[in-house]
Amino acid sequence: MDFILATNNMKKLAEMQRILSPLGINVVTAKMIGIEIPDVIEDGETFEENARKKAVNACEITKMPAIADDSGICVDYLDGAPGIYSARFSGGHGNDEANNDLLLEKLEGVPMEQRKAHYACAICCVFPDGKEITVRGECHGYIGFERDGNEGFGYDPLFLVDGKAFGRYTAEEKDKISHRGNALRLLTKELEKII
Ligand code: IMP
Repeated sequence: MDFILATNNMKKLAEMQRILSPLGINVVTAKMIGIEIPDVIEDGETFEENARKKAVNACEITKMPAIADDSGICVDYLDGAPGIYSARFSGGHGNDEANNDLLLEKLEGVPMEQRKAHYACAICCVFPDGKEITVRGECHGYIGFERDGNEGFGYDPLFLVDGKAFGRYTAEEKDKISHRGNALRLLTKELEKII
C-alpha cells in the first residue's frame, strides 16, 4: 500500500521507509510522484495538531492515505522549549547549526543533572475516507555540553542517551529507541488493525 509522506525532509523519509517497508507500507513524498503540496501553516499548539494539519492537507490534495509527523525537542530547564518551535528556535527555519548554538548558549553553566530533555514525535495518518490515526512517541535523554558525532540531523549531536550523543548512533541504533521509531511502531500496530 502506498502512503504519501507530507515532508520534504529526506532524512525523515529514510527513517520512515526503514521502519515501515518491512510491513509492506511504501512511503513516497508528493514530489516523488509529481504533485506539489503547498506548505500548511504550522500554527497548532501541539505536535499532534500540527501533524494532523499536514496529513489532512496532503490527503486532500493527493487523495491518497497520507502520513505526517511533527517533532521536536523539549528541554526541562527551558520549561519544554523549544518544543513545537524546534525547527525555527534560532529564527530561520531548519538552521541546525544556529539552533544547536542557541541551545548551548541557553544552557551555559547548567549542570548535567538539570539538562534533561526529550524528543517528541506525533504522527498522524489520514485516509481519503476520513479515518484518522494519531500516535506519539518520545525519547528521553540529556543535552550535552558540546556537539558530538556526525550521524542523524537537527539536535542529534547534542542529545545524549545513555551518555552517548545521537550524533554517534547508527541509523539502526537510533530507530530502536528514537521518538520517531517509537511513534512509527505504535502507528504500525494501529495500521495493522485497519488495513
Ligand atoms: P518538523 O520538521 O516541523 O517536525 O521539525 C522538527 C525539528 O525538530 C527539526 O528541524 C529538528 O530540529 C528537530 N528534530 C526532530 N526530530 C529530530 C531528530 O530525530 N533528531 C534531531 N533533531 C530532530
